[in-house]
Order: sequence, then structure tokens, then C-alpha cells
Amino acid sequence: MPNTKAYAIQSPRDKLAPFSFDRREPGAKDVQVEILYCGVCHSDIHQARDEWGGSLYPMVPGHEIIGRVTKAGNAVTKFKKGDLAAVGVMIDSCRKCRNCKNQVENYCEEDMTGTYNAIERDGKSLAQGGYSTQIVTDERYVYTISPGLDLAGAAPLLCAGITTYSPLRFAGVTKGTKVGVIGLGGLGHLGVKFSASFGAEVTMISTSPSKEADAKKLGAHNFLLQTDRSQMKKYDSYFDVVLNTISANHDYEKYLNLLGYEGKMMIVGLPSEEPRVKPFALLKNRRSITGSMIGGTRETQEMLDYCAEKNIVSEVEVIPIQQINEAYERMLKNDVRYRFVIDMASLKN
Ligand code: NAP
Ligand code: ZN
Ligand code: ZN
Repeated sequence: MPNTKAYAIQSPRDKLAPFSFDRREPGAKDVQVEILYCGVCHSDIHQARDEWGGSLYPMVPGHEIIGRVTKAGNAVTKFKKGDLAAVGVMIDSCRKCRNCKNQVENYCEEDMTGTYNAIERDGKSLAQGGYSTQIVTDERYVYTISPGLDLAGAAPLLCAGITTYSPLRFAGVTKGTKVGVIGLGGLGHLGVKFSASFGAEVTMISTSPSKEADAKKLGAHNFLLQTDRSQMKKYDSYFDVVLNTISANHDYEKYLNLLGYEGKMMIVGLPSEEPRVKPFALLKNRRSITGSMIGGTRETQEMLDYCAEKNIVSEVEVIPIQQINEAYERMLKNDVRYRFVIDMASLKN
């Protein structure tokens, strides 16, 4: 069995520390991938610290994985040894329900299996994520990636990328759509890049005045400092689509007021508390709130191919795994430009 080095957390108040475990031997449809880079998502922090409840330990987080195939089972068709490969937030699903058949397995009627903090479909194995040297996954949930992309920058596409691409596509963002992206973090900065690439008029809605220049470099046309009441007033009933990536607890109402006629707030941020919504704020302009969770296998591959065509990758700060606890603290202080990515070579030595 492939012995795997990793970093794991043992309980919500612990720190991540070195750990090792066995992956399964690759089956006929499995690929074994040597992990080169893994992005650090805010969901890793929420789950490591059990902020959503029900976390399973020991936990090896990480679901923005780029690597190289070291072994492919004999029924694998998409990959051969030496190919680049990517794994995201989902490693399995029931494969039979309507949503799985439509390749929106992220909305599997029996629930998708997460890459970590999940029990696999054998009912007993604890799924472990990408802060590790290798992963073994059914090829259906493994993506091809263009060698033309910067590989460290491509890792965050597997979660932050698809999580922003999918709702923007669903909302029909196109040339001239007025899009507001709330929160300039890992998700938000890719939300800005995608919206701009679809031809939208993009406004970055942020609590951090220091991020204005970066937002504009990423493709935002306007910058709205949401702590400034007069600026918020100026954008009252303005947007067609607002993508909400806020990781901390907040009320939706403040942002609903920014939506114009039939405007949509797409929720992707996942703070632990339930937000407050006044029906009056929804009724005005016939606004709606829609949630969106990553993307299915078809759309994830489409997004990766789109990124290869447009050369879209994440802005990253590459770290050795030994700095992961410090990276979590910095993310909580909004001190990351704009995604930490672990160079997994640091774990192999
Ligand atoms: P991140 O890099 O930490 O960015 C979050 C951003 O939210 C910050 O940079 C900050 O931007 C803003 N923010 C933080 N605290 C705030 C507050 N109190 N009020 C207003 N804005 C605040 O996090 P991320 O990795 O992008 O993840 C964002 C959220 O999406 C997390 O909750 C994560 O779990 C969730 N998520 C959901 C999915 C999904 O499938 N739906 C997938 C991945 C992640 P400014 O400095 O610009 O204000
Ligand atoms: Zn994520
Ligand atoms: Zn299903």
C-alpha cells in the first residue's frame, strides 16, 4: 500500500503536524498521483477547526491538488504514467442519480464524497486530502491540466476557480453585466478575473482599502470600500449579480441592497452562523439569493480548459508545508495575496 507522508490535525484546537498513513492500492479505474502543489482554501481552516460541526480526525486537509500520475489502473482511459493530473473538492459520488448522470456530481442526491473530512463510499475509509505526497482517486474525479499553465498558480483553480466560475456562468454573466465581487481573497480574486474575462463591468467590494490597486490589476473596473456608507449608497440597487465570498459571519441585507432589478446574490462563502435577511430587502427589485457549491466534473474540466485558453491562474504565495500553521493565521488576518499554495517537495525531504 502506498505509504504517504502528510500534515494532519488531530482535534479542532490542535496545530497541523507531520503524519503518515497508507493510501489504497490503485484499482482498475484509479490513478495514483504524486502531489506537486496543493492550495490552501479557507474551507480547510473551517473544517480543521470544526467550524461547520462533525469534522473527522485525524484530518489531512487540502483539495486544490496538482500532480503527476505515477500509476494508472488497467481500465484507466484518460491518463498514463507521467501525465499531469488535478484533483479538486470531490473524489466520488453515487454515479447513478439524475445529477450524477448529468455530471453535476457535486449535487449528487446521495451527497458527493469530499476529498477529505469524509468517509469514502466503502463506508469505512477516512478520505484524506492534498497536504500529502500522493493521492489515489477514480479517474472520473481527476482532471487533465494544460502543461502551459503555471502549475502552482493552477492548483487553486480546483476549488477557488470552479467555485467562482460555476455561479458566474449560471448567472449568465456576459459582456456588460454589472458584477460585484465581495471579498478579495482566494475565491474573490478569481471571481474578479473570470468576470472580467467574460466581459462584465466588475466592481470589487472589499473591507480592505489597501487592496484597491491589486483589485484593478486583477481586472476590476471599480473598487467599493464597503465600510464607507456614502460609497455603499452610491451603489444602491446597482448590480445584476453579486458574488458573495465572505468567510466570516455577516448579514446578507447590507449586500442585498446593492442589487438592481431581478439582481442575484450568489452565495459561495460559508461562515458558520446563519445570516439575517429581511423579506423587504428581497422583495424590492425582485431580488434573489442563490447558493453554489464548487462544480461538477464536466464544468470543472471546462473551466480548466478555459483557463488554459485565457491563461488564467491564481495569484499565489508558495510556501513549504512547515509554514502551514502560520499561513492559517495570516489568512484569518486577511494577509494573503491571494492564495497560499504548498510546494509539496518540502514534505518529501
Ligand atoms: P479567504 O481567502 O480568506 O478570503 C475571504 C475574504 O473575505 C477576505 O479576503 C476578505 O476580503 C473578506 N472578509 C473576511 N472577513 C470579512 C468580514 N468580517 N466582513 C466582510 N468581508 C470579510 O477565503 P476563501 O478561501 O476565498 O474562501 C471564502 C469562503 O468561501 C470561505 O467561507 C470558504 O469556506 C468558502 N468556500 C465555499 C466553496 C463553495 O463551494 N461554495 C468553495 C470554497 C470555499 P476583503 O479584505 O476584500 O474584505
Ligand atoms: Zn475549497
Ligand atoms: Zn449521485
